[in-house]
Amino acid sequence: MLDIKWIRSNQEQVQEAAEHKGIAVSIAELVAVDDRRRALLQEVEQLRMERNRMAQDITDRIRKGEHAAEPLKIRVKEINGRLSELEPEHREEERRFKELMLLVPNVVSPDTPIGQSDAENKEVKRVGEPTRFDFEPRDHVALGELHRLFDIPRGVKTAGSRNYYLTGAGVALHRAVQQLAVDYLAEHGFTLLEAPLMVRTDAMYNTGFFPLGQDQSFRIEGEDKWLVGTSEVPLVSYYDNEIVDVAEPIRMAAATLCFRSEIGSAGRDVQGLYRVHQFAKVEQVVLCEADIRTSERLHQEITANAEDILRLLELPYRVMAVCTGDMSQKTYKQFDIETWMPSRQAYGETHSSSNLLDFQARRSNIRYRDAEGKARFCHTLNNTAVASPRILIPLLENHQQEDGSIRIPEALRPYMNGLERLEPL
Ligand code: AMP
Repeated sequence: MLDIKWIRSNQEQVQEAAEHKGIAVSIAELVAVDDRRRALLQEVEQLRMERNRMAQDITDRIRKGEHAAEPLKIRVKEINGRLSELEPEHREEERRFKELMLLVPNVVSPDTPIGQSDAENKEVKRVGEPTRFDFEPRDHVALGELHRLFDIPRGVKTAGSRNYYLTGAGVALHRAVQQLAVDYLAEHGFTLLEAPLMVRTDAMYNTGFFPLGQDQSFRIEGEDKWLVGTSEVPLVSYYDNEIVDVAEPIRMAAATLCFRSEIGSAGRDVQGLYRVHQFAKVEQVVLCEADIRTSERLHQEITANAEDILRLLELPYRVMAVCTGDMSQKTYKQFDIETWMPSRQAYGETHSSSNLLDFQARRSNIRYRDAEGKARFCHTLNNTAVASPRILIPLLENHQQEDGSIRIPEALRPYMNGLERLEPL
């Protein structure tokens, strides 16, 4: 959410951000609704004050044994009549105002590329080179079969499309990459949380995932609750409606399951483990003071954390500056990290790092006191540390050997009982 005062004096910039992000909202309409709701509120309040004064006058006269003057009674009736028209009108304008405010996007950083889809994201850095093989490499599905790492047909049998079972060494790898990421973050000052995965509707609105992303989420039947698509929701909501101390930025992390309907992705990435309904993600969330230099520095920091984890996994990757059309409503600036996936002969997105400025904190009402003691909304940021099973795709495919075995990167071995390679079963 942006501040309405700020929106009013930066209307063109906000309208442009909406257009660049492909969000249908008219800032001119928002301003007109804001004008009307303010004018109506003023009129309603004046009439209520007048009515209160008259009611007091009538009571005083009755107490003194006098009759209330007829004109007074007539005026009270008139006011009541007018209020019964204005109050619903005002409620309706307030409702519409809130509805429109929830659609207003965050503006984007001056260096954000303008574009309609991920095809227009700009590469800003590349580390390592795409793996070359002097044999015919297998894709992760074939490697999974060879090593019995997962079972997609049975996942689909039990739970429908985009579902899977991990089995045996597949489970071990899935847990190993998460624990490596968790340990890395703990060593880098992050506090770990085990978070609720079913959250109230309010938490989804406050963190900026609703109303626009509602169709991406699974609702719990009969409850005012939703399964989270990312632990960013419960991590940020931890401080909902609180005044926090950000003298030192708050660094939080959680390893949770994530659930996504993937509506709108019909027919996309249907092979293997790339796009599934349920996956595990270790997430970084940071809250800091509302200072752009501080949050930009922390944005670099959480992006570098993800890069370090990829280096530990010995995977080639590139960092992309995400364009407006591929960004969410709440984002000010975003880097995606894409890891080389040999079977796709392409880099595939494995991490997403965002600075939201105070957009999310404003909705969630998370504030801190600045040096003058004034309560201000803080900045929030988030990034993936690792998401599995998607990361298993590059891990298996890049580290496969000619004999079908898979080399375990050194940093991962302590999490795999010291195992140096997986041998085909
Ligand atoms: P996001 O929270 O949408 O920015 O996604 C963060 C990371 O989670 C992505 O870069 C992927 O690694 C992973 N991810 C997101 N959606 C899915 C999905 N449907 N299936 C598997 N992994 C996913």
